[in-house]
Amino acid sequence: MNEVCFKSLIKDQCWSLKTYEANGGYSVWCKILKGELTPEYIIDELKTSGLRGRGGAGFPTGLKWSFMPRHSDGQKYVICNSDEGEPGTCKDRDILRFNPHAVIEGMAIGGFVMNASVGYNYIRGEFMEPFYRFEDALKEAYKVGLLGRNINNSSVNFDLYTHLGAGAYICGEETALLESIEGKKGQPRFKPPFPANVGLFGKPTMINNTESFASVPEILRCGGQWFADIGVENSGGCKLFSVSGHVKNPANFEVPMGTPFKDLLKMAGGMRDGARLKAVIPGGSSTPVLTAKVAMNMTMDYDGIEKAGSMLGAGSVIIMDESTCMVEVLTRLTHFYYDESCGQCTPCREGTGWLYRVLKRIIDGNGEQTDIDLLLGVQDKIIGNTICALGDAAAMPVESFLRNFRLEFKYYIEHGKSMVKG
Ligand code: SF4
Repeated sequence: MNEVCFKSLIKDQCWSLKTYEANGGYSVWCKILKGELTPEYIIDELKTSGLRGRGGAGFPTGLKWSFMPRHSDGQKYVICNSDEGEPGTCKDRDILRFNPHAVIEGMAIGGFVMNASVGYNYIRGEFMEPFYRFEDALKEAYKVGLLGRNINNSSVNFDLYTHLGAGAYICGEETALLESIEGKKGQPRFKPPFPANVGLFGKPTMINNTESFASVPEILRCGGQWFADIGVENSGGCKLFSVSGHVKNPANFEVPMGTPFKDLLKMAGGMRDGARLKAVIPGGSSTPVLTAKVAMNMTMDYDGIEKAGSMLGAGSVIIMDESTCMVEVLTRLTHFYYDESCGQCTPCREGTGWLYRVLKRIIDGNGEQTDIDLLLGVQDKIIGNTICALGDAAAMPVESFLRNFRLEFKYYIEHGKSMVKG
């Protein structure tokens, strides 16, 4: 198996420094400390690897790192976004639990490339076990002199801190995250300027997802081409997919990009209780829902999922069987975004409330057939008209639910009850 983030998973105490080093951990960092690697070499290898941001946006990591103003004077920062909070996502939590040193090494390498001497790992407030595991790993790394000032008598400085969130989903948005670290209310900033130039405390800041950072050391150990060859064109390497819902064995699976969805479903033990697959949300709750027929012919990579009509997102695959009422699912998802909207811009603040209230009245048996067009109209007015992507995330699934399962919505409105549950 070509595993990267979960390479040491089956080993005893896989989160310990001892196990990480026994598997080649920190070898890249030590080469950097000896002056054997340059930032340009690292960026080239990352570009060759085809690694794309694993937090959901999918922007090529090597290209992103090459844009950073690493030659500018003054303080710069590296930030790991571990504020994993979208319904369906649970991969970063397990990386922090089982392979925290890969995140530390990846962040330190990022600091070297960026010429940044300080890093923060922003961890979701509810992630207590991952938080303590990461803190313990940090202590281990400091104890043996892998972090700090003039590390191993080199000119390299890198101090790393954890910052625990306080339970707001919006702080996973990178500029809201910056506000939160600065001690302010977690609300997204207008862009531009982008964090690469004006980030934490107004200084240039590189922000990447936990899985992205954790993949970097192994890519540099084995070579960018090695990683690219694991995956398919335009989607290099392997990826963690969090499979949840109506399967026998919900879990995180690290598989090569391009793996057929039906193989991933088999790895998760297939459908629970022999039920039939009805629908799949392939990338987390903000990505469009697909019917079973479309999903069964899909491959798990950026292009494969886009071709099927959705997005890879963070790789959070939500499986639903035929007992699922799609009206209720959409109502639940819409309530999540309504609840988590920071309220800063009108289309999101008001629009998510409209979506939820219209769906709630359908569920309560008070819907009208015109509500379907009303929902489509409201979601259309949110998309592209907000400060951050939460508005789009709330709106996008609505259209796909109504397009793929329109009959269920019509039935619910007409009969005041679920077509599936009766
Ligand atoms: Fe806040 Fe929503 Fe606007 Fe984002 S889109 S800034 S969450 S109100």
